[in-house]
Amino acid sequence: MLLGCIADDVTGASDLAATLVREGMRTVQVLGLPDAAAPPPEADAVVVALKSRTIPAKEAVEQSLAALRWLRAGGARQIFFKYCSTFDSSDVGNIGPVAEALLEALESDMTLYCPAFPTNGRSVYQGHLFVGDRLLSESGMQHHPLTPMTDPDLVRVLQRQTTHPVGLVAYADVAQGAAAVRQRLAALQGEGKRHAIVDALEDAHLRTIGEAAADLPLLTGGSGLALGLPENFRRAGLLQAQASDTLPPVEGPAVVLSGSCSRATNGQVAYMSARAPSLALDPLSLARGEQRVEQILEWARAHLGEAPLLIYATAEPEKVAAIQAELGRDAAGSLVEETMAAVGRGLVEAGARRLVIAGGETSGAVVQALGVTALQIGREIDPGVPWTASLGEPRLLLALKSGNFGTEDFFEKAFRLAPGGSA
Ligand code: ADP
Repeated sequence: MLLGCIADDVTGASDLAATLVREGMRTVQVLGLPDAAAPPPEADAVVVALKSRTIPAKEAVEQSLAALRWLRAGGARQIFFKYCSTFDSSDVGNIGPVAEALLEALESDMTLYCPAFPTNGRSVYQGHLFVGDRLLSESGMQHHPLTPMTDPDLVRVLQRQTTHPVGLVAYADVAQGAAAVRQRLAALQGEGKRHAIVDALEDAHLRTIGEAAADLPLLTGGSGLALGLPENFRRAGLLQAQASDTLPPVEGPAVVLSGSCSRATNGQVAYMSARAPSLALDPLSLARGEQRVEQILEWARAHLGEAPLLIYATAEPEKVAAIQAELGRDAAGSLVEETMAAVGRGLVEAGARRLVIAGGETSGAVVQALGVTALQIGREIDPGVPWTASLGEPRLLLALKSGNFGTEDFFEKAFRLAPGGSA
């Protein structure tokens, strides 16, 4: 293993894994914390997918440190901590606390942060995160059910989460190349800073930053920052094998489960619900016991087939706010996640073999309930969302979509592009 990665959610992990495969690294995604004694998979890069984005910071730190120990025991030469390209976090964490703990464990005193993902419209300029032409705080992320992002200044956001000071490597340095970035990082380190937000507007900048960070024990960022890392290993003569993104064909009934309330997912659910058998979960009815998992499964079994069906909790911000006001934010989130997990398990028991799941937390809950422990990574459907195949039995095709990714017809397109299948 050359690169060991720790991702704070499962959709982000497959996004990162897809990037590494595309850039030529044989990559395996492991779901959840592996047993300390488990041997590492045969791969150049291993991505451990945690579900640590919104759990208490202390637990996120403990799990990330355990993942770090396992990755280092497996030979990882560099560690990559992956979070969302919209920097999803709150004032208590978990990006800052996890990165500080990893730094300390690695006996390092500098790391960088770059969530930019230009292909999907995320760029960082003067430390401010943009989604398309909007600041993060006006991008829809201010309404996120669990991690509303209301401050676009990442230096400020991260500073609220860390004990050591945060600096900025601005565009002017990044545009000059890897040497200038290294110089700036050294200067920040000289000022006692341990954390540096780094600007990036296009993929070339991410490759520059990757090159500059070749010797850093720890890097943190979105999947885009991984673009430049395989080349470092290739340059050092450590990476020779070719990565393959061909998955075994899997046939069988197709379903879409959507628990994301992000803007893009709302559009995708509206598109698909007008064209396919669809059922909406209503958290208030679920809480009152009026809508139950068994009823949902009964409906689903009657519609299960080659043409995908859709089960969703996805709702517009006003509706989510009303539900949260009644049930509480975390309780509403957990209720929907537990329901989706039980529905996912019931559907696979009923024969479903191809699943698209929308939402990071939602995907984490469902794959956990399915008992999937590792994924092989296939081709991307849209940037950041690959088809994957579970390594255990029964073999499942899974596409785990982060909330804001994908075009309006993503769900339909996913099954059109599924290896071996047709919808
Ligand atoms: P994303 O990838 O868009 O961030 P996530 O699945 O990570 O999506 O997060 C969405 C959260 O919102 C989950 O915890 C989910 O259970 C919760 N949720 C989904 N639908 C509703 C709803 N209608 N009301 C309240 N919370 C919801």
